[in-house]
Amino acid sequence: MKMNKRFRVPPHARVRLGDFDPDDTAGFDKGDKANERLEKNIARMAELEYRLYAESQRALLIVLQGMDAAGKDGTVRHVMTGLNPQTCRATSFKVPSSEEAAHDFLWRIHKAVPAHGEVGIFNRSQYEDVLVVRVHELVPKSVWSARYDQINRFEELMSESGVTILKFFLHISKKEQLERLEERLKDPNRNWKISDADIKERKRWDDYVTAYEAVLSRCSTSYAPWFVIPANKKWFRNLAVSQIIVETLERMDPKFPKPSIDLSKIKVK
Ligand code: AMP
Ligand code: MG
Repeated sequence: MKMNKRFRVPPHARVRLGDFDPDDTAGFDKGDKANERLEKNIARMAELEYRLYAESQRALLIVLQGMDAAGKDGTVRHVMTGLNPQTCRATSFKVPSSEEAAHDFLWRIHKAVPAHGEVGIFNRSQYEDVLVVRVHELVPKSVWSARYDQINRFEELMSESGVTILKFFLHISKKEQLERLEERLKDPNRNWKISDADIKERKRWDDYVTAYEAVLSRCSTSYAPWFVIPANKKWFRNLAVSQIIVETLERMDPKFPKPSIDLSKIKVK
């Protein structure tokens, strides 16, 4: 079965994260040439991205969300390596600046949407405004609860404007998160990655699960589907995400434009 179908959340599904196994590997094992497959997907992504750029009629937006240490940065580092920096832009959304906070929550997001011909990667996204904001009650419930529909309308607008949207929830277990945070504490090369926030947010794990379940239940649409990617095993996370991107670009099937001049009349010598 195509990964695209296997991990996609159907519109209006009532998602319970407990029903999804973060250790799932869809029948693959690591020895199963997983790395070779990943390399092939990366190469294929680069070819299709080049055609998307040449065509310049449509765009692809990849949204990455997940608990702390779920592997958002790792996915960018290991899966997006073949993309062309000239036509691809990754944006990390942090705590809003004072200028951003003085606008509607989609203002900063809209500015980062890829133009026709481009691939955009969101490391965190508009969904933080119904995740961290909901968990910490940074705005009243009446404000955040209206945002699910606002996000759906925004994504529908993007989609009608030629942006294909893929949203990946990187699903790790609470135990796997603990192991990764401990590793960040132990490994001098990873010390920099750990923050007070990671430890504080871990205590709110169950609240985040509830918030993510609302996102996945209310905002997986035909025009902007969510995928729940089993992410305890990094090699499988990379394989699944790269595979879904390739399947999607192949379905989009971007075409090189016809030459704008009569080639038979051109003499290069
Ligand atoms: P990191 O991705 O580890 O660099 O951390 C970025 C931090 O910014 C996370 O703690 C997010 O929860 C936080 N963040 C991102 N977007 C928002 C937002 N709209 N409101 C409040 N905090 C946010
Ligand atoms: Mg972090």
